[in-house]
This record gives sequence, structure tokens and C-alpha cells, in this order.
Amino acid sequence: MAERSLTLMAVHAHPDDEATSTGGILARYAAEGITTVLVTCTDGRCGDGPGGVKPGDPGHDPAAVVAMRTAELEVSCAALKVTHLETLGYADSGMMGWPNNDQPGSFWTTPVDEAADRLADLIRQYRPDVVVTYDENGFYGHPDHIQAHRITMAAVAKTDIPAKVYWTTVPRTMFAEFGRIMQELGVEWADPDAADEPGPQLGLPDDEINTWVDTSKYGPQKFDALAAHASQTENIFFLQLGRERFTELMGVETFVRVQDTTGAPLPEDDLFAGLR
Ligand SMILES: [Zn+2]
Repeated sequence: MAERSLTLMAVHAHPDDEATSTGGILARYAAEGITTVLVTCTDGRCGDGPGGVKPGDPGHDPAAVVAMRTAELEVSCAALKVTHLETLGYADSGMMGWPNNDQPGSFWTTPVDEAADRLADLIRQYRPDVVVTYDENGFYGHPDHIQAHRITMAAVAKTDIPAKVYWTTVPRTMFAEFGRIMQELGVEWADPDAADEPGPQLGLPDDEINTWVDTSKYGPQKFDALAAHASQTENIFFLQLGRERFTELMGVETFVRVQDTTGAPLPEDDLFAGLR
């Protein structure tokens, strides 16, 4: 019987999140012959619309936004050579406090157990060795990112299949570096995606990050994936760096390993350490 290929599953909230925080690992592990599965939980309807129309502004048509972002997601997956794309199709809940949070069908109002059951079915189907999602604050407090975290951890517990689970993170020293570079480029550096309410501090001190994966070779693919989502204002910020600078700056993706059955020693530089 042919040996089953190792499998990576990344669970993300919106079309474009796959590129920003895991574009490097998706491209790298696909290139290493690992099966990659991207699960995108929402349809991204609260994003910018065609022509840059902002959500809430006249002319912002959620159906048009969904169609555009679905097409962009497919281009991004092609750039990253994602093996399987699965979309759960929940309605984007918008930023914390937006009326969309409570709209019927929004990801945020969906019971965790219900969405986790759907994800658990995908985990049983693909049997990922490694699962990646966000931390309990969804990295920056977006309701859909928090919900993606919750359903992933619930689905992992229901299936007990993945050997390793990681949460994406960013070293705080990196934010300082971004600020410096953006100033140099004359770009105002304020996270346009951040919630209005002050939340927990973003990212982690370097010494709390236990997994650093070199993805520099795949920077151009990550850049192309992000460029596929150029309709979203927050991505334009990164694209302004240009491919070369972007690759230089985004050459390492960082994670916190939160579950492990392999006993691979920490710190790690490979999500599949202990599995091959
Ligand atoms: Zn997102």
C-alpha cells in the first residue's frame, strides 16, 4: 500500500489570511511534497468591494464582494500550490462591534460546536498531521479569527487526529522593524485592520515563540498570493514593499506549538519535525 503523504491543514477566517500569516509555510510544504489543505471559514463579504468601496458605504454589494474575493482566493491558492481548498462559507462577521456580528448566518453567531463538527469532518477526511490556526485572541481580536481558533481547537479535540497543533504569531520585535521600514518608505504605519477597542498586545516577545520556520525561498510566491488580494486595503501596505524587500522582511514565519504527540524538541524550525 502506498504510504500516505504528510498533510498540513491551515484554518483561516477570511480569503487573504492564508497569504498573510501562512503563505510561506503553505508554499514551502507543498514544494516538499506535503499535501496542503486550506480551510477558509468565511466569505469575506465585509471586505472592500470592487473599486475600493468600503463596507457600509453606498454601493458596497456583499454579493459582489464575495464573488471577487472567492476568485482572488483561488488565484492565491494557485500561487501557493495549495492542494485542497475548502470553504465553509459562513458570512464574514466584520470587525468587533459591527452590526454584522449578530446577523443571521454570521460566523460569530454560529455555535462553536456546529461549525466544529463541519471542520471535524474535514479533519477526518484529510487526516492532517499538522494543524495551524490563530491564538485565542485571533491574533488581533477579529471575531472571525477568534471563532476560527475556537472551532479548530474543538474540532481537533473531537477527532484527536493531528499530531501537532500550532498558533500563528508575530514577534514583537518584528512590529518595531515594520515601523522603521514604513517610515523609511514614507508610509504611515498604523494597522488599518486593528479593532478600535484597545485589546491585548499583538504578537509575542521573541522568547515565547517556540517555532521559527524559514520560508525565505518562497517569499516570491507569498508575495504573489498577497498580490492576488490587492483589492483589500490592508494588503496594499505589504505590497508597497515590493517583492524583494517583502521576501527579505517576511522570510520567517513564526508559531507557537500548543499540542504535540511527537516529542520533537523545542525550539523547532520545521512544523513536521518528529514526523519525517
Ligand atoms: Zn482575516
